[in-house]
Amino acid sequence: MTIHSLKITLISLAAGLLLASLGGWSMAGEVAVDPADNGTDIRDDTTEDADSRSSEVAAAVEEFVEAVPSHAHDVPLAEAVTSAEGLAEPLELLGKNIPPGTSMRLSWSATELFEGVPVSTPVLAINGALPGPNLCLTAAVHGDELNGVEMVRRVLHDINPDKLSGAIIGVPIVNVQGFRRGSRYLPDRRDLNRYFPGNPTGSAAARIAHSFFINVIAHCDALIDLHTGSFERANLPQIRADLRNPDVVTLTQGLGGMVILHSTPAVGTLRHAATQAGIPAVTLEAGGPSVLELNEVKHGVKGIETLISTIGMQRKLRLWSDPEPVYYRSSWVRADSGGILLADVSLGSTVREGDLLGTITDPMSNARSEVRSPYSGRIIGMARNQVVMPGFAAFHVGIATVEAPVGETETPVARKDQGKSGDYVDGMSE
Ligand SMILES: [Zn+2]
Repeated sequence: MTIHSLKITLISLAAGLLLASLGGWSMAGEVAVDPADNGTDIRDDTTEDADSRSSEVAAAVEEFVEAVPSHAHDVPLAEAVTSAEGLAEPLELLGKNIPPGTSMRLSWSATELFEGVPVSTPVLAINGALPGPNLCLTAAVHGDELNGVEMVRRVLHDINPDKLSGAIIGVPIVNVQGFRRGSRYLPDRRDLNRYFPGNPTGSAAARIAHSFFINVIAHCDALIDLHTGSFERANLPQIRADLRNPDVVTLTQGLGGMVILHSTPAVGTLRHAATQAGIPAVTLEAGGPSVLELNEVKHGVKGIETLISTIGMQRKLRLWSDPEPVYYRSSWVRADSGGILLADVSLGSTVREGDLLGTITDPMSNARSEVRSPYSGRIIGMARNQVVMPGFAAFHVGIATVEAPVGETETPVARKDQGKSGDYVDGMSE
């Protein structure tokens, strides 16, 4: 099968690149550029962050396109199980050989700490007894996003290798350095999810991204990247997906009763890089950072297990068919004054244009202002109650429309409303 030979090519390529980059490897660590991680600067959280469009990222994308052949899919994802023929093959991953019908805990290490100790993180792989696609689950690309870590553990625990068609590869903690510090970022304060597919000779972030992409992601036939809201904001469990890609639509529909937000992935995100490489990918957002939220975890697990059933990888694992709406547009409603933000709505609330979303009270003057919804729709993300400055993105409204994405979908309403592209917030937390 062509996918198999591609994997071998990728493995030898990865080995070559690793050897080539060993010379500069000990230089990977960089000093922090801004130790004050107060997490309130929205610009750090936008997909249009200038940093995310640095020439380094652009260069990495170009280099990647030349270096790695696009992932070959002979059949649509929806038919990957039914069209798989013959016996399951051993899964070659991270230097190990996982026979069909078995699971293995592997280890991926991208870089070293300053003292030269490798930083490794577990990679859990289950190779099914039957042939099929490789589904990958990644969590904590942002080290403070914990719900996905628990989702990966639960999903992999529920899989029976004897009944599985294909393989499931789970990486509970991609950004292990951020995870240990309870931080979204890498130690140099770079956002790892702006550096995929990476660059073996670039910054620390670009090298980590490259190692992860070549050694793990390149083995996937489909990817679900698990995230939460960021900076004291929480998201209604939702799928972010580019609905112009048919395999991405298969993934999205398979996830069952979860809100779907059409969004074009930003350059540098794992979702973007994987899709560019021919690996359909979606982001699953659920809850907020720095906490474990059991309801959100269960919601995500239910969605992923429904997908595993829907595409036929393991029958009757879970089926969840209440469809949720698809939002082709969304917009963040911002605070126009500073003070204490108290919400009058909750995640999932349906709102109409003009409805009160929350109030902001100045703690000094006691002056109170209202935040009202400019749109009719549903609250799919919102800030926790906190002290805010004018301009703070407070409520994310999924806007009910009948539009479907056709061709050019690069201008969601958020960008138009906010004027400057630098304020674009959609997809902010991935
Ligand atoms: Zn995230």
